[in-house]
Amino acid sequence: MKAAGHGMFPAPRRATRRIRLGSVEIGGGAPVSVQSMTKTDTRDVAATVAQIHELETAGCEIIRLAVPDRAAAEALRTIRRETRAPLVADIHFDHRLALAALEAGVDGLRINPGNIGGADRVQELARAAGERRVPIRVGVNAGSLEEDLLARHGGATAEALVASALRHVRLLEDVGFHAIKISVKASDVARTVEAYRRLSRETDHPLHLGVTEAGTSFAGTIRSAVALGVLLSEGIGDTLRVSLTDSPVTETRVGLEILRSLGLRAPGASVISCPTCGRIQIDVMSLAREIEAALEAHQRECPDAPRPLVAVMGCMVNGPGEAREADIAVAGGKGRAAIYVRGRPVATVPESEIVRVLMDQVRAWRPN
Ligand code: SF4
Repeated sequence: MKAAGHGMFPAPRRATRRIRLGSVEIGGGAPVSVQSMTKTDTRDVAATVAQIHELETAGCEIIRLAVPDRAAAEALRTIRRETRAPLVADIHFDHRLALAALEAGVDGLRINPGNIGGADRVQELARAAGERRVPIRVGVNAGSLEEDLLARHGGATAEALVASALRHVRLLEDVGFHAIKISVKASDVARTVEAYRRLSRETDHPLHLGVTEAGTSFAGTIRSAVALGVLLSEGIGDTLRVSLTDSPVTETRVGLEILRSLGLRAPGASVISCPTCGRIQIDVMSLAREIEAALEAHQRECPDAPRPLVAVMGCMVNGPGEAREADIAVAGGKGRAAIYVRGRPVATVPESEIVRVLMDQVRAWRPN
């Protein structure tokens, strides 16, 4: 008998059509992209633009915004002008808001078939989006399925989610609109995995993965990593969003880490840190996080620069010895820290200077 699990891991990506969302390509072998959603009031332009800039810096590739009313749709015009990442307008209930968002210059639309109105409205949107070459995500949620499907399938089952999605995809296709991606999100792992597996057998439109209402950071991260991990490992999924009751920057970082853990993204910053013990003389946890963020930013700026392994150690007694595996290390002292390159001390700096001096060493570092 052949042992289970033979073959490539992750499995080769399923073939999907390719669509373009602003500057980002989705499907058809394009890298799996990471999305998030702003949590500011979209009408508050300054706060929303600031959050989008934070997300861009964190590596978020597509950013969605809620458009609950006319004022939010109008605000999109300025937000679009002041930001770079592709923006997707998330519309519920009122298709006129989607038309207004298109006018404002968004790069993508997300509609929820369960609540956007009848076929004529969906098709009106498709025509307007088609004229602007703006793709539409058909985003089905277990919590808002159409009544007839709930009745036919005995609840919000995986089959019902897929049936709702395909019904709306057909409406779009009937008017010649094909720049479509699809999501079928449930709040639990089993239904989410089942729904996407079924969907990927039935369509070659690119798929947007996610678990809806994934929960607090801890539980939600695990739930998303398990569901998305299973699907991506089977080659399913072209773009993803991790939903957490937490900042969108955290959602982005989790999404990127899921992709890295499967080898679908280049590795991120390599920071190791000591577990700390009674000898600790510096806040290793915050320092390691700060260094990790600085390294990630540097890697985004200079993707081809060498990537040294950096160690953050809590004391000068054992730290330098324990950090021998690392290319560059920092070991804390009282209010100060020593920086080592290939095991040799190169500088002793006050705490406030650690990250700056360490990053100078990272930029200067060359592999042997
Ligand atoms: S480096 Fe220092 S603080 Fe960190 S675990 Fe080792 S002995 Fe403890």
